[in-house]
Amino acid sequence: MTAHRLINRRVAIAEMGKAGLAIVVLGTAACSEPISGIGTSADGSTAVAPVTTGTARAPTSMVTSSAATTATAVTGFQRANLDFVSAYILYRDGEAALVDTGVEGSAAAIEASLAEAGLGWGAVGHVILTHKHPDHAGSVDEVMIQAPGAILYAGAAEISQITSTAIPEAVADGDMVFDLQMIDTPGHTAGHICVLDPLAGILVTGDALVGGAQGVEPPDPSFSEDMASALESVAKLAGFDYEVALFGHGEPLLEGASAAVTALARA
Ligand SMILES: [Zn+2]
Repeated sequence: MTAHRLINRRVAIAEMGKAGLAIVVLGTAACSEPISGIGTSADGSTAVAPVTTGTARAPTSMVTSSAATTATAVTGFQRANLDFVSAYILYRDGEAALVDTGVEGSAAAIEASLAEAGLGWGAVGHVILTHKHPDHAGSVDEVMIQAPGAILYAGAAEISQITSTAIPEAVADGDMVFDLQMIDTPGHTAGHICVLDPLAGILVTGDALVGGAQGVEPPDPSFSEDMASALESVAKLAGFDYEVALFGHGEPLLEGASAAVTALARA
């Protein structure tokens, strides 16, 4: 990740705290390398990226778009806040991956979140389950009915325990799905995976990490199968680079996330 991308993201996050709609100017002259999916202008002209949030107090999404000379690219995430658990929509160029599905009966709320991002079920080409627990996999059948063209994925060690009509494809550590990197993070459950968007600098943690008062906390031991492995997975997650962490439980951490996870792993 380049320094100026970090700066741009920090500007965006600072603005998100001030207002529901903020305009962030991305000077492409400062970006010497092309960033796929972010949408920089080929002619070096300035791109304008609107950043929208659900509310100023609790940002639920981050959008970066730019009108280039020949094409428009939009990338971002949308949180589906499903009461005590969240699912996340990661999208670029009108296509989306849904990470987790919430408890049973969450499809309508996920559809509303898709709409907030300007998307519908037809955009959902990938559904990724971080793990088997019913607050994450509970609506998988409803979702797969709404998005019949989507491919379902889960960690190999999890698949036999996920109750769904569609059988998930097994993903292995390091696999790429829709330019998203799958990271094996066993402990909370044996086949738990996290999802990293390396281009946007976003980590979707499932229950491998929890949003807390200190920004980020390890999973709750009382709900985790193997706490020693879970803590090894926290240390593993500290080895990746991302600015934003999106938790299954807790408020998203929108700045300095991998540094916070590194601090947690050393504590
Ligand atoms: Zn869980």
